[in-house]
Amino acid sequence: MTEQISRLVHGVYVYASILVVLVWTTPFAVDHPRVYWGCAACMAGGMAVRVALRFFGERWNGAFLETMLLTAVGLTSAPSGLLYLCSLLYYGFEDWTFTVLMIWTVGGASGSMVSFAPTLRLLVLHVTLLLVPALGLGLWQGGTKGTTFAIGTMVLLVFLLTQGVWLNRAYMKQLEDRATEEARLRELELAKAAAEAANVAKSLFLANMSHEIRTPMHGVMGMAQVVLAGELPAESRENVEAIHGASETLLRVLNEILDFSKVEAGKVELERVPFALRRMLEELRLTVRPLATMKGFRLDWTVDDAVPERAIGDGVRLRQILMNLLGNAVKFTTAGAVGLRVAREPGDALRLTVTDSGIGIPADKQQLIFEAFAQADGTVSRRFGGTGLGLAISAKLVALMGGQLTVSSEVGQGSEFSFAVGLPESTAEPVATSEQAAAQERPGLRLLLAEDNAVSQRVAVALLAKRGHHVTVVENGVAAIAAWERDEFDALLMDNQMPEMGGLDAVREIRAREERENRRRTPAVMLTASAMLGDRERFLDGGVDGYLAKPFHADELYAALAKVAAPPGCATQ
Ligand code: ADP
Repeated sequence: MTEQISRLVHGVYVYASILVVLVWTTPFAVDHPRVYWGCAACMAGGMAVRVALRFFGERWNGAFLETMLLTAVGLTSAPSGLLYLCSLLYYGFEDWTFTVLMIWTVGGASGSMVSFAPTLRLLVLHVTLLLVPALGLGLWQGGTKGTTFAIGTMVLLVFLLTQGVWLNRAYMKQLEDRATEEARLRELELAKAAAEAANVAKSLFLANMSHEIRTPMHGVMGMAQVVLAGELPAESRENVEAIHGASETLLRVLNEILDFSKVEAGKVELERVPFALRRMLEELRLTVRPLATMKGFRLDWTVDDAVPERAIGDGVRLRQILMNLLGNAVKFTTAGAVGLRVAREPGDALRLTVTDSGIGIPADKQQLIFEAFAQADGTVSRRFGGTGLGLAISAKLVALMGGQLTVSSEVGQGSEFSFAVGLPESTAEPVATSEQAAAQERPGLRLLLAEDNAVSQRVAVALLAKRGHHVTVVENGVAAIAAWERDEFDALLMDNQMPEMGGLDAVREIRAREERENRRRTPAVMLTASAMLGDRERFLDGGVDGYLAKPFHADELYAALAKVAAPPGCATQ
């Protein structure tokens, strides 16, 4: 309706112009003042209603608004039609006065097509009031001119009305389309908001679950390591090793789920650094070989001579992909052979292919297995174990490296997984990874451990005491700051989530005090169950020097200590 009202307002200057033109160029107003001024007054009323509609129309309700619209149109169209009729009656077809009014009336009637497109009944009223009186007069007068005029006007009338109906329909359709479009957009927005909320909830849930699972797992794995490090009867040792092995498997599953959530969120950034490619492949071979021997199949391992010793890329992720493919190959094969082929392709690319002679994958499942949580055969996979995430992660990582992971397989014959990625040769020395940097830490370190979980405390104290370090244990960040004020320490080992004050806040406070009081910087290592995306960066940005996600191996703890407290003269990374 607002649209119709604003279109009506434009009529105001059209009608005002007719009245002015009539006074200026014709004798109408002088010859027939009562008709002229009567019509002019009527039209002025109509124009006033149009202006009123423009300003107050939005506040008027349905029936009243409808009446005002009809009045606005009636009060202008009826006198216009009457002037047109009178010009014909008083002056005849040949006179200028009639010509002027005909131009304006016919023009006005045609132009109103657009103005009244939103409301068909207003158009009918308007066109009828303008043209029908003169048409009737033409008919009544008869003769060639009268009849021709009447027929012409009738044709025009029919034409305008059919066009009006068509325009009105198009207008309504447009409105409808726009409304549907808007509704669809609103729906999409709602769905998007819901999906985003679900995603936030999922991430939060994952972070919490990860933290809650990691803490007790750290206890299990840590205590198993502590017990294994001591004297044990052979049978007990085997049992504890079984506990340790099972918890390692559990940790792998948990890490796979977390890794997938990172890859899925598109938050994995690949490194481009030199790494020892051939050595990495050899280490893989040594990992797979015992499994092959155990299950009684051959290991076909071919690495082209053209494959460089060192390459530039993300060695850790490449190893992860190959380990996953080889792990599957071993898992789903009972006889025959499992193999890896590495061949040089044109340019910097290497093609890596993992083959097996195992159970194979049905053709209709070959794409499905790259989806998260998908397994070709639920019963078979249950027998073999697995989360169904490995291939989804590997395929995404390969894509990030610019390649594509493909499979060709035949049931009962075996499978072949293959991908080609750019791995340019590097002449630089490889950057040592944290695993390689397992340098010795200085002996007899004075360490401050802030940890509220009793089991985690025992694990850390036992592992550290075994290396001859002195550990002071406190239960939260506030106590840690107090202890740091009291004594000198070589390093701080901090849990993050603790009552009263967390580890990160405590480290921040200590860094601020060191700065203020110009004191020696005490290195800090975070030992935390927060292992989600961005946690490491958050801690390192907060002034921490090392980060270990629970559960960790004893060696990782010693390596982290070596990094921040190396013996004199030993280079650290
Ligand atoms: P998981 O092995 O943990 O179940 P993956 O994503 O690595 O998860 O593999 C998904 C599924 O693809 C497996 O469960 C299995 O059905 C199928 N699959 C993968 N590799 C092989 C293979 N080499 N031979 C037969 N089936 C395989």
